[in-house]
Amino acid sequence: MASPVIFDLHSHSSASDGVLSPRDLVVRAAQLGVGVLALTDHDELRGLAEAAGTAVEQGIELVAGVEISVSWAGRTVHIVGLRIDPDNDALRAGLAVNRSGRRERAMRMAESLAATGIPGAFEGARLLASNEELISRTHFARFLVGKGYVKDVKTVFKKFLVRGKPGYVPHQWAGLAQSVQWIRAAGGVAVLAHPGRYDMGKEKMSLLMAEFKEVGGIGLEVVTGSHTADQVPIYARHAERFGFFASVGSDFHAPGEGGRELGRLMPLPANCRPIWEAW
Ligand code: AMP
Ligand code: MN
Ligand code: MN
Ligand code: MN
Repeated sequence: MASPVIFDLHSHSSASDGVLSPRDLVVRAAQLGVGVLALTDHDELRGLAEAAGTAVEQGIELVAGVEISVSWAGRTVHIVGLRIDPDNDALRAGLAVNRSGRRERAMRMAESLAATGIPGAFEGARLLASNEELISRTHFARFLVGKGYVKDVKTVFKKFLVRGKPGYVPHQWAGLAQSVQWIRAAGGVAVLAHPGRYDMGKEKMSLLMAEFKEVGGIGLEVVTGSHTADQVPIYARHAERFGFFASVGSDFHAPGEGGRELGRLMPLPANCRPIWEAW
């Protein structure tokens, strides 16, 4: 019997804060046996054409995706859009607005780091970003690790760049309803990414999920590189309760950076309806 197709519906290329080019990312996924890969760069679609071309060559399926940064109730959450049309004007215009604030934010992050004795962070992060419009906290994290200020990227997000720590700058991203509208306008389905990463209590999480559903979201990332084995059944139950389809994605950014490898994921629990059944 043929082995089951491996789905990985969340990954990043150098068009956002991944380190591999879209081509190299797809080649790596194919080598690792992934059958269906979604490229979901932050607020950016420019890697999709190269990824799609490489997927054809490699004989795997590429799902056109995006991960939209959203401000909700004073926090940042991420909404993944899958099977979007990369040429859709509403989506493209919305993402352009989301990207436009990043440069200014990066300069302010650098000022904050400079004030604690870490100079040159803007230039440092900028040099590590292949896409000038997409300087992310990950690029700052790699700069801080490269300069020896912190031992690894994971530790950076404990000591820097998060609320209350040096390098943190609050930022206003797209609205939740808006992000789902853009995805749906582009023919895609909206998935709430890595719920276990959000620092909120049960009540707030339920409010977020209810509102996401209300505005047209249909999926929840139950299996993700940022969930522990204990979190998977918890979010599977949330998906069941809210009637969400379940998604699966590594959130791969770079070989050996501490995140999950492409396609190396826990299986979806049996009580989940996989998002690809909604396609
Ligand atoms: P930004 O969109 O510029 O705020 O950057 C967000 C990115 O920072 C995420 O997509 C991750 O790649 C990275 N990030 C955030 N928190 C963590 C964490 N705890 N460990 C590793 N990477 C993180
Ligand atoms: Mn990222
Ligand atoms: Mn994310
Ligand atoms: Mn991601």
